[in-house]
Amino acid sequence: MRIELDRKVCQGHGVCQMTASNLFTLSDEDGLAIQPANPIAEEFQDEGRLASVSCPERALSIVED
Ligand code: SF4
Repeated sequence: MRIELDRKVCQGHGVCQMTASNLFTLSDEDGLAIQPANPIAEEFQDEGRLASVSCPERALSIVED
């Protein structure tokens, strides 16, 4: 599984960081989420999916392998 972050859409709410702290941090430079390393490890996939559906801007796309 992969997660694709569209930083043109991201508004830096940080919901992803709150729901998937193992995958997401916000940039100190622009305050937007940082693209997590792909592929997503098995143990973090559930929180990655939760972050994707929780993102208020729909900036996170799940790509299943
Ligand atoms: S929840 Fe969505 S809009 Fe907010 S920081 Fe994360 S990716 Fe960006």
